Amino acid sequence: MFALDTDDFAHIVREYDLAPFRLKQIREWIFGKYADDFRQMTNLPGALRTELAARYQVTESRIAAHRKTRDGTVKLLVRYPDGAAVEAVLMEYRNWTSACLSTQVGCAMGCTFCATGPLGFVRNLSWPELAEELWHCHWFAARHGLKPLRNMVLMGIGEPLANLDNVVKLVETASSPEFFNMGQRRIAISTVGLIPEIYKLARCKLAITLAVSLHAPNDALRNKLMPVTARYPLQDLLDACRNYTVMTGRRITFEYLLIDGVNDSSEHARELADLLKGFNCLVNLIQLNRVPGTAWRPSTRTDVFKKELEQRGINVTVRRSLGAEIDAACGQLRRGTLQA
Ligand code: SAH
Ligand code: SF4
Repeated sequence: MFALDTDDFAHIVREYDLAPFRLKQIREWIFGKYADDFRQMTNLPGALRTELAARYQVTESRIAAHRKTRDGTVKLLVRYPDGAAVEAVLMEYRNWTSACLSTQVGCAMGCTFCATGPLGFVRNLSWPELAEELWHCHWFAARHGLKPLRNMVLMGIGEPLANLDNVVKLVETASSPEFFNMGQRRIAISTVGLIPEIYKLARCKLAITLAVSLHAPNDALRNKLMPVTARYPLQDLLDACRNYTVMTGRRITFEYLLIDGVNDSSEHARELADLLKGFNCLVNLIQLNRVPGTAWRPSTRTDVFKKELEQRGINVTVRRSLGAEIDAACGQLRRGTLQA
């Protein structure tokens, strides 16, 4: 992405003998006004504008398609020059818009309830590619009159911690005043629970929210839903989460997907409350979104399950589900289902 990599940009500054304030102007056009063409940058000298427009593009990827629902949710298909494509989702709330970004093309984790799982894994998105995905979300929100984009959640296609270095650079870029200037507290990363990477992320001391997909209170059941459990059992995962809280001072969110007759009984609530006893955390209950070809159905016990946890002293919230109409809700994203 243009003007993102400081070395590349320094090269352009040298080549065109640009004064430092020009660099600032270009950055403001790209990251403040979301200009997608150098010709729009009216305070640059005309010859420089033409030259830059002839030789460079602001982004190498493009929005190949988009769809919008009545609840204001937008799904974008972002296509990269090699043909790889991912979906990003914009959700409009009362005063702001939140972007849900994909971090990989496909996913290798194979969770049985997720539409991404069966597609397998193609490749990681690089740090500049992730920044472009975020940039397209900003561009779309600005150009289509959505509320200002203030939050970013890495909960789209892919496992963010399996692409940790690029994801950390994305968070740094997103929160940098020179680029997207988004507070780290407005950023959340959701993980299937990769233990070594949770320890590594803890050392980065970011002020983001870490959300861990739990979805079951014991290893046997969790393994049926999430094959990653065989490698990373719950007790070890919780140790990594405790370390994360100590290192960062941030409370962990545990996501718990309620599936009818599978993990939503009173007994499961009790087991979950025992597992998380004394842990400074928040449990976020998620309603299952149906994925064709899977047997899982949404639970009808969400409110009861919430009360059962609260009675045992657990902090609980229920996630609002948006975008199901266009398969844009949690777990429904598939690489390139939007037709370009
Ligand atoms: N790979 C990461 C982040 C992407 S998935 C992770 O698994 O955490 C984001 C969230 O959506 C996860 O909590 C995931 O378990 C959940 N999810 C997956 N499939 C879903 C479905 N069919 N309905 C509702 N949520 C789902
Ligand atoms: Fe991958 Fe997350 Fe879907 Fe599991 S739920 S397959 S980790 S994207």
